[in-house]
Amino acid sequence: MKKRGDSEDENMSNSQLPPHGRNWEKVKAEMEAAQKDDSPWYNKRMFIGGSYFGGEDVVEVANEAYQMYINYNALYGTKIFPSLVGYESDIVGALLEMMDAPMGASGSITTGGTESLIMAVKTAYAWARDYRPEAIAPEIVVPHAAHPAFDKTAHLMGIRAVRMTQSPDFRADIEAMERAINDNTVMLAASAPSYPFGVTDSISEIAALVEKHGLWLHVDACHGGFIFPFARKLGYSIPDYDFAVPGVTSISVDVHKLGYANKGVSALLLRDANLETYQRYTFEDWPSGTYSTQNLMGSRSGGGLASAWAVLNYLGEEGYLERVSKILDTREQFLDGIRGIDGLEIWGEPEAYLITFGSDAFDIFAVDEGMTERGWLSSRLLDPPAIHLFLDMSHAAIVDDYLRDLAEVVSAAKSGKIQSSEKGASYSR
Ligand SMILES: *Cc1c(COP(=O)(O)O)cnc(C)c1O
Repeated sequence: MKKRGDSEDENMSNSQLPPHGRNWEKVKAEMEAAQKDDSPWYNKRMFIGGSYFGGEDVVEVANEAYQMYINYNALYGTKIFPSLVGYESDIVGALLEMMDAPMGASGSITTGGTESLIMAVKTAYAWARDYRPEAIAPEIVVPHAAHPAFDKTAHLMGIRAVRMTQSPDFRADIEAMERAINDNTVMLAASAPSYPFGVTDSISEIAALVEKHGLWLHVDACHGGFIFPFARKLGYSIPDYDFAVPGVTSISVDVHKLGYANKGVSALLLRDANLETYQRYTFEDWPSGTYSTQNLMGSRSGGGLASAWAVLNYLGEEGYLERVSKILDTREQFLDGIRGIDGLEIWGEPEAYLITFGSDAFDIFAVDEGMTERGWLSSRLLDPPAIHLFLDMSHAAIVDDYLRDLAEVVSAAKSGKIQSSEKGASYSR
């Protein structure tokens, strides 16, 4: 075995700190070499989401603003960084307007969609102690296709998430949701749209249940929040999903998805600012005085917030309209092309930038593997089996190439020339 400190260049691969500090140029070169195994952060042949390309100029603006605030700790915004407090308030104001919020609504910035959902459930839970005292062992009712962060939160909080088992018409099963409501129910969840199908639940029907039973309704618009308001202005028909629907109590919107901010920015919006008392956590009983936070995280970079404010200003409504228009045009081209290939079927009627397609006639996972072999990376759905495409602006350039390859790979799958070897699917690993 090699002894510690044998070489100047010894890195951390033997699970300990290098004995002496190392030259940054060498460390950097090593990191650059390590990056060669990574996929590029965005790629026209990749449809798996996770990164959202809004143009080189937008990336530059976001990164430059992030860099300006990279060392700021947003936890101390109200204490020492009034500029960050101003950015948060501006972003929340714009999002409330986009979600058709009534007077008296409010909101806060979180570090991501997951944190927004955690805080929505936590707030509803605290609210229920005043408004649903009969809920002794709180439960939330979650549609089949909603994001797993609802269940993760229930797990964290030691409460029960009752998840529906089906998505009739690729939407929430309203009848099953109503049957699941009991004295312990505090919240109903809905998606606008869901990640698996790109289709919005019938928010007005779920809102009617919420009003009838005196519950909290959270609408997860993590995906739709930066598409739907603009799609409507472009003339696309978008189902009712926002605060215009009475009964919608809170909405989550991810700014680090198609808002084009750097990672670490989402928002939780509340119909009524008075509900914030159920969201905030305050603690006094320790030596350092008041600890009070609206959201889950403590220390975090101010970079995300700064990038969001910069990009919202840089793009303005016009910039988002242009991008949404381009993505939705691209989606229509994909849909036409896919429908034109015999045996392929679109699952659900995509409303945003997610497309899910499969086949009753042949093995869609064989098609997925054939496409992967040609360098097209997408995700899968298991139920029903499908290929899941996540579009951004960069895909406008490759529609024809993709569809040509897809037609060829489908014929190979139909004739049995290619078969699938892997039957599983995963979201994040
Ligand atoms: C992305 C997403 C989330 C989770 O957001 P993160 O930012 O990844 O934590 C939640 N719900 C929906 C519908 C999403 O698309």
